[in-house]
Amino acid sequence: MVKKHCPKCGNYSYSSNEHGKWLCPTCGENLTSYHAMPLDERDREGAKLPRWSNLTLVKR
Ligand SMILES: [Zn+2]
Repeated sequence: MVKKHCPKCGNYSYSSNEHGKWLCPTCGENLTSYHAMPLDERDREGAKLPRWSNLTLVKR
């Protein structure tokens, strides 16, 4: 899993694959050219953190 931060709406989105078209699921911003960050173990448990609570997974 990788994640990208949307500079437009400030939300993170997740995908299993950083390749291909990537649109922000929240605002529709094209994040394809942005750098994807690998998801570490802490992120997988990140649901405990309030700022991660409204994240959405990129649907492919
Ligand atoms: Zn966005």
